[in-house]
Amino acid sequence: MRLTKLRETLATEGLDAILITQPENRRYLSGFTGSDGVLLISADEAIIATDFRYYEQVEKQAPDFRLAKVTAKFKSLLPELVQQVGAKTVGFESVHLTVDQHQEWQEVAEDFDLAPTTELVERIRAVKDEGELGKIKKAIALADQAIAHIADFIEPGMTEKEVAWELEVFMRTHGAEKLAFDTILGSGPNGAMPHATVSERVIQAGEPIVIDLGAMVDGYNSDLTRTICAGRPDDKFQEIHAIVLEAQLTAERNIRPGMQGKQADAIARKVIEEAGYGENYGHGLGHGVGLAVHEKPGVGRLSEDVLQPGMVFTVEPGIYLPGWGGVRIEDIVVMREDGVEILTQARKELNG
Ligand code: ZN
Ligand code: ZN
Repeated sequence: MRLTKLRETLATEGLDAILITQPENRRYLSGFTGSDGVLLISADEAIIATDFRYYEQVEKQAPDFRLAKVTAKFKSLLPELVQQVGAKTVGFESVHLTVDQHQEWQEVAEDFDLAPTTELVERIRAVKDEGELGKIKKAIALADQAIAHIADFIEPGMTEKEVAWELEVFMRTHGAEKLAFDTILGSGPNGAMPHATVSERVIQAGEPIVIDLGAMVDGYNSDLTRTICAGRPDDKFQEIHAIVLEAQLTAERNIRPGMQGKQADAIARKVIEEAGYGENYGHGLGHGVGLAVHEKPGVGRLSEDVLQPGMVFTVEPGIYLPGWGGVRIEDIVVMREDGVEILTQARKELNG
């Protein structure tokens, strides 16, 4: 099914074949989880070229692909493989291939042309099948449990590092193969930096603590932000939190299939602008999530990606006030025919 979709794309793009090197794309199309290898896919052939370290793994994980054993440099094998599939115009992933690799391939491309392509597989990946959705839901459930755990665990006097470590241990011992990304944890003024790195800062009672975390399960990621509090939130925190929450819920209620990412973004942005904090919301509403933490569709101010049923993306508006802190609330949703289904279950209400 995935190869069928890619082959349709190759035909419309005027390509006889494509070379895939981007790790998530390689995994998505072949099932191979190793870190090195090149796929060559044509209308009726699917080849995976890799070296000795992965021969056995390829047989197990990628039974639909023919293994081409790489014993020297891949480029020495390339002309022969291209000839075997009878291709004249061969696409490559220009976003991923390094300039050095491209030069090497170009040196041996005497009987065929290399053509840059952008996001051909990424566009297919944007719409998830049921199997993928199941894995994403597991990763989300784990993130939900982790934030519930940490809301009970956190106390004034702990450092950001202590809390981040507790989160990591919780996710790893409850089924995450790894973290989806380094946890972002910004307490008090640190929360004004949307992607704050974890520090030795001591957490104070009543201040906002932005926690953005995710787990990986079966290769699929979750991405969750809640802004919580040790003790009772102060008035300012309650006010900002209420605005962000309203923006977030308004977007979740009103996003429809067929909208462009920028139209979805505008829904939440309008709420924050009307509350007078437009200048303090400097990032996009969200992004696709799957094998990568950030993938298609884009759901930001400039995105013209059209939201379609089956797409999985985040909804994560925020307000950031330098010197004070920040509030961000992030869910993962799946686009359905009549609107979004919210997959994240973690509670959003503040204490007290
Ligand atoms: Zn996040
Ligand atoms: Zn995110």
